Amino acid sequence: MENLKVRQDVNLPNGTTAVHGHLHTRQPNPNHALTTPIWQTATYTFENTADLIAYQEGKLWGGTNGRIEYARYGNPTVQAVEKRLAALEAGDLPGHYDALLFPTGMTAVTNILLSILPTGSHVIFTDDSYRKTRQFCQTFLKRLGIETSEVPMGDYDALAKAIQPNTRIILTESPTNPYLRVADLEKVVAIAKQHKRIKTIIDATFATPVNQRPLTYGIDLVIHSGTKYFSGHNDVMAGVAIGEAGLIHALRQSQGMLGGVIDPHAAYLLERGLKTLALRVQQQNRSAQQVAEFLEQHPAIDRVWYPGLASHPDHAIASQQMRGFGGVVSFEVAVPPGENPLDSAARVVDAVRIPYIAASLGGVESLIEQPAIMSYYELSTEERRTMGMKDNLVRFAIGIEETEDILADLAQALEYVHVASSQ
Ligand SMILES: *Cc1c(COP(=O)(O)O)cnc(C)c1O
Repeated sequence: MENLKVRQDVNLPNGTTAVHGHLHTRQPNPNHALTTPIWQTATYTFENTADLIAYQEGKLWGGTNGRIEYARYGNPTVQAVEKRLAALEAGDLPGHYDALLFPTGMTAVTNILLSILPTGSHVIFTDDSYRKTRQFCQTFLKRLGIETSEVPMGDYDALAKAIQPNTRIILTESPTNPYLRVADLEKVVAIAKQHKRIKTIIDATFATPVNQRPLTYGIDLVIHSGTKYFSGHNDVMAGVAIGEAGLIHALRQSQGMLGGVIDPHAAYLLERGLKTLALRVQQQNRSAQQVAEFLEQHPAIDRVWYPGLASHPDHAIASQQMRGFGGVVSFEVAVPPGENPLDSAARVVDAVRIPYIAASLGGVESLIEQPAIMSYYELSTEERRTMGMKDNLVRFAIGIEETEDILADLAQALEYVHVASSQ
């Protein structure tokens, strides 16, 4: 048995919190229903005008989790899931933390950047991050007169040098997609803290709080695409931001204007998924480590990218900072002389039987894809190369199938590819 007391302050894979939310604040549901009811309503009623006036003056059902007048400003199902997420990401930290749900991960990213960055300000982000986030910064934010700088992941001198008097946000992602680069969170926070008005934001979708707890390092805001590990079943989209309650309150006010709110049924599915988060992620960590080790010694594979391998550039910091290394393994397929690298990788993708060919990650089903064909298809090989996106790269998002089955499947696929390519 793993000793869960080890490094509890930093990386607690808190399966109990995932199942129950915060035990200390647990309230019975109406009719003592075990599961959170889905409050499928667009608005809320008042008995009479006097009650409405009392509500407006904060005298009736007040408080942060009191009643609401209209569903864009809140929903009891959504609030219950937000509490659970805040407990998961920040439950044991001193201070008051809160979470804010969004209908997708991208609504979380765009709402937060639009809310915090005034015209004339500046945002720094690290490369090898989610492509749509980068595109949003470089197109929308630019149009609004917001400057952006992209710095190489892992280059902390470049990060410090990129700071300007108008910098308001350092946005990083860890682990990154698809090379699983891991940010040194202590360094990022130390650099940001030298300047008064900079907020640090991390997209920690690939890690989940089971493997990494960025708030414990002083990161201001953690974002997750709830579509991935949190919901875990490839059947719902969601996004979430977790941070200090005052900041979340301000973002909630912006959300009321921008309007991107999650549907209560989606929030319910997300909560259902969260209950098995720790179990799923532990299984995915285990399988991914074994898959990475298997691939690394296979002659049909040139290079494996997984932070749990000593060969990964961020293995040292990942070992200090993470409890597990996640369920995504990226690898470069060996290219026989004269072959187009896109084809070499495609033969592996087409030969495996368990994973579906699909975008996304973090669900119970294994998914496999070539980033060059899935997310970067419209670019030329040359353009992809300048972005560091290799044509023979495969991203394998491991599900919760039996580790032995996944390994056997990969072995048969690579055997086929290797024999075929050496003929
Ligand atoms: C999927 C993903 C997003 C976007 O989330 P959606 O829920 O698809 O909008 C953002 N960041 C990372 C790292 C992701 O994997």
